[in-house]
Amino acid sequence: MMSKEALFTRVEDLEQELIELSAFLHANPELGNEEFQAVNRITHILERNGFVVERGLAGLDTAFRASYTVGLGGPVIGMLCEYDALKDLGHGCGHNLQSPSVVGAALALSRLEDLPPCTIEVIGTPAEETTSGKIPMAQQGCFDHLDIALMMHGGDRTTVDGRSLAVDNFEFVFEGKASHAAVAPEKGVSALDGVLMTFNGMEYLREHVRSDVRIHGIITDGGIAANIVPERAAAMFSIRAINRPYLDTVVERALNVARGAALATGTKVHIHPKKSLESKLNVQALNDVLLENAKLVGAKNVTPPREKTGSTDFSIVTHRVPGACIRVAFVPQGTPNHTKEWVEASNSKEGNEAIITAAKTLGATCIDVLSSATLLDAIKMQFKEEKELQENLVLQ
Ligand SMILES: [Zn+2]
Repeated sequence: MMSKEALFTRVEDLEQELIELSAFLHANPELGNEEFQAVNRITHILERNGFVVERGLAGLDTAFRASYTVGLGGPVIGMLCEYDALKDLGHGCGHNLQSPSVVGAALALSRLEDLPPCTIEVIGTPAEETTSGKIPMAQQGCFDHLDIALMMHGGDRTTVDGRSLAVDNFEFVFEGKASHAAVAPEKGVSALDGVLMTFNGMEYLREHVRSDVRIHGIITDGGIAANIVPERAAAMFSIRAINRPYLDTVVERALNVARGAALATGTKVHIHPKKSLESKLNVQALNDVLLENAKLVGAKNVTPPREKTGSTDFSIVTHRVPGACIRVAFVPQGTPNHTKEWVEASNSKEGNEAIITAAKTLGATCIDVLSSATLLDAIKMQFKEEKELQENLVLQ
């Protein structure tokens, strides 16, 4: 029987190396799809420790997979990590904590003498903040062979995510005709009118959708000067719902609002689809194990699953295989991410402690899954049920 205590000791043995990895990533922040130094450093550690590394997946140079196999035919557990930073800010989302956490868990597991037949994979997923590397990776089947997929993310509390909203983003660019607003208003067609009518129409739409729907927008171009009829105006909208089939129906109505606004104002509208993310599937049995293990290893500020979450590209992975993410507290509760506070905390004593907590939590969760076929079956069954439910239009 594998012992969690033995695993925890092995994680502690790795502490110095994991903290150095985190500090290196923090000191050398790289933007999405340019994380070459990060990938180099992470994969070399894994390679040195007997993992087989494949660099470049799904056409992404900075995606990688590192595998460690014991015996034949056991479960395949994937632990995903992101390593991209934010423009002008650095590691303001704490992504430098992720690879040390999963590398710590993976190496500690590989050093257990009694690890049963299984494959442990560390999978590097680029550009979470920008182009969402997990989307092409999922579409090209990079995760399909996994029995479960795990992640960690820093947070203001230690918790797991429930469901999250699917989201479609659009830019609406309206085209009118410029004219002097005082001298010849009758010769102008205001593109801004198209934008304003769109906002009004969205308010009417908002009343007749399900309560899980969110519609929010901003004006990104409202014209150049008050005395010129705007020939160009633009808005960005995000439209969200708890499941994809329903979101698709709301999106079609929202696009018709913009088309109708163009017709009503005599403008033209150009609709540019932007980032689109899936809803997250929730596998409670997997979340429960993660949270129990977080408590076991003494994680700080453990709270029940978050009901509301932002959208993430990890969601698409949770539609392919059972997946869950442990959020590990390392900033004071209420501190928003993408801030200087997060940048500082992700290279602090608290950040380093979060790495050890996460490595132990993820490793212990792998031990639970590998020790109990019943648990793995329950996780797979719940995943199947949740997938069927989420693909149903009437889900609330
Ligand atoms: Zn993040």
